[in-house]
Amino acid sequence: MNIKKVVVIGSGTMGSGIAAHLCNADIPVILLDLKTEIAEKAKERILKSRPPLLFEKDKIKSLTVGNIKENFDSVCDADWIIEAVVERIDIKHDIYKKIFNKRKKDSIVSSNTSTIPLKVLSEKSTLKDKQDFCITHFFNPVRYMGLLEIVRDKSNNPNKINFLKKFCEEKLGKGVIICGDTPGFLGNRIGVYAMQVAMTEAMKMNLSIEEADAVFGRPMGIPKTGVFALYDLIGIDLMSDVLKSFQKELSNKDEFQKVAAGLPIIKKLIETGYTGRKGKGGFYRIKKLENKKILEALNLKNNEYFAVKKIDLEIDKINLLELINRDDKYGKYAWSVISKIILYSSSLVPTITDEYNDIDEALRLGFNWSMGPFEMLESIGLKTFFSKIKDVDDNKFLKSLKDKKIESFYDERQKYTDLQTLGKIKKAVIKLEKNDSAEIFRFKDFNIVEFNTKANALDYDSMDALKKATDKPLIIINESMQFSAGVNLNYVMKFIKNNDLKSVEKFIKYFQETCKHLKYCKNPVISAPSGLALGGGEEVILQSNYVVSHTNIVMGLVETIVGLVPAGGGCKELLWRWSQSDESSLDPDYAPLKVFDIIGYAKTASSPQQAKKLLFLDTNHNVIINRNELLPAARKLLNNNVDFSPSKECKFKLSGKNVREKMHKILEALYNEKKILDHGMDVGKELAYVLSGGDTDLDKEISEEQMYKLELNSFMKLVENKKTQDRIVHTLKTGKPLIN
Ligand code: NAD
Repeated sequence: MNIKKVVVIGSGTMGSGIAAHLCNADIPVILLDLKTEIAEKAKERILKSRPPLLFEKDKIKSLTVGNIKENFDSVCDADWIIEAVVERIDIKHDIYKKIFNKRKKDSIVSSNTSTIPLKVLSEKSTLKDKQDFCITHFFNPVRYMGLLEIVRDKSNNPNKINFLKKFCEEKLGKGVIICGDTPGFLGNRIGVYAMQVAMTEAMKMNLSIEEADAVFGRPMGIPKTGVFALYDLIGIDLMSDVLKSFQKELSNKDEFQKVAAGLPIIKKLIETGYTGRKGKGGFYRIKKLENKKILEALNLKNNEYFAVKKIDLEIDKINLLELINRDDKYGKYAWSVISKIILYSSSLVPTITDEYNDIDEALRLGFNWSMGPFEMLESIGLKTFFSKIKDVDDNKFLKSLKDKKIESFYDERQKYTDLQTLGKIKKAVIKLEKNDSAEIFRFKDFNIVEFNTKANALDYDSMDALKKATDKPLIIINESMQFSAGVNLNYVMKFIKNNDLKSVEKFIKYFQETCKHLKYCKNPVISAPSGLALGGGEEVILQSNYVVSHTNIVMGLVETIVGLVPAGGGCKELLWRWSQSDESSLDPDYAPLKVFDIIGYAKTASSPQQAKKLLFLDTNHNVIINRNELLPAARKLLNNNVDFSPSKECKFKLSGKNVREKMHKILEALYNEKKILDHGMDVGKELAYVLSGGDTDLDKEISEEQMYKLELNSFMKLVENKKTQDRIVHTLKTGKPLIN
């Protein structure tokens, strides 16, 4: 069988997200709602979505909209019909009845429900229909969340379920976990429980919401939204409905019941319209004072809002053992929350799944945790855990671990897929070297470098690892979300604060040397990015021999935002790519002006398709929809390129002053329109100097070496400037640009 046409019924948050993602995979999809206008609006929302649900706008051409009265016949020849209407069983039953009357034989029918059990959804269906009916539980936003839970039971045709799993992995790029029909399946059962525990314990221990989010967040390998900000993001009213459903579906003895009851504050927030970000605010809110926006947090003791207090736990890297052993309220809170999550998750093996690893993966893919509960247990250490929790007799999973008296229990990762992911092969790699910012592994006959700083920001050590790893073919790939957010600006600012500009220069020179080395060394270098690939991260990619890129990337040379120019070869490499275009053969100023526009405006691409248009990626670079496939695809490339020959050096012919004057005119117009201010002008002029080739003309040839020098000189001039430093400090503090 094959899936060539899909009908999605219900064009709300989820239906539109699923339809958009089917468009990404170029699969024709018909999106139906009560009225065509509702589905039309959904189409508009898809096109305007931020972050974008589509890889590129053009993908929308696979979408047709309609209504369930006039266009229901589209179900007749659909291969897969997905129901994503409101969470009301009467409405859903009514729709299934109509679908099963019309659908073609053997088509797949699924529901996106997050809370209604499969047995309830299918209670009115015939045995034959039940064979083809399952739950496909996508997460929001569908393009970005890796998890898809397929819930099936004994009535299902297993071949069909396996087919659907494979289809969703290969075509939609999902991490598909097959689940049994238990409340909340895997992700929400543990994820929502964890949120409730984090919230309840924070209140019990008198932690402020900022304090709770600071602990139940990055230090635990959980996104920085923690619990309270996540509640606001999901919607406090929606969370309340989800909890009611858990209360109804779970047995009274289930540990979840202790934390599932709605807290009085939640009820009050919903009643007063504080339903989260979509409402007036929630646990956090934005207050506008004159022209300023102030982020406020709710004080749980007196229910009043105050300006948010930044909590700095001074933790750079995730270390759970250190965290739970802290002799302060944060350590106590962390232990209380983590231990409860571990106890609950392990108590549900094998009730909700035979495979504990599936729970971890569901939390990674569906909640963006960097470790699931069982990995948390492994990282704390069984010895420590059992020294703190003595009685585990009621918990079969933990009791068996305790009885075995072992120290480590975790085996393979990503068991739900056959693909050889980085997580999976880590058990078999040789660890060659590790420094503070990166690690080098050897696997078979190639090396892997994995960055491991916050957002994989790059410093001297990251470069050192890359340079040392080129004795074999090299793949640069990370398990964590981001490829690299760019050079570590905190690292650069530390030198500047000590007036040590020499060290900044030394670092940039080493950065350049490393990138040159990646480009010209005798072994191929492959970058396999996903997530952020910005600034220095993008420069590494630009100077790799091949790239296999995940479809969820944000790529760009954004240095001008912080008052700098790309100096790791980014200006040079992008200029080279654009100078190979047909337009450049007609006009020598075409490429420098194009790159001036791209880097000057700090343009970014939010998919490889867009990145190819800006030449951040070469047109022949691989695009991969399933993140798990990045490593296998990179390995395949290595195998296909055994007689690889290194890149040839590029030479430039640039018109110097001639093109620079054109660039200055552009800057002056922007300045006169007040789109840039004084420092914007300075930064623009430095960029113009580099991209015009400096003091040159079309009769002279410029080497890569000279281009690197131009980049370095401009970078150093700018980094010494107080106004660039102000920009860096501001961006580090607020995450936003400073226009000066
Ligand atoms: P929503 O309220 O955003 O959208 C529901 C849509 O269904 C609306 O456009 C509504 O007009 C339409 N609808 C209602 N009755 C209909 C009918 N008879 N025929 C056709 N369309 C009809 O809801 P949502 O958040 O997209 O949720 C949809 C489903 O997905 C629910 O089952 C929900 O539990 C599940 N879910 C939601 C999320 C989430 O984060 N929102 C995540 C996972 C699963």
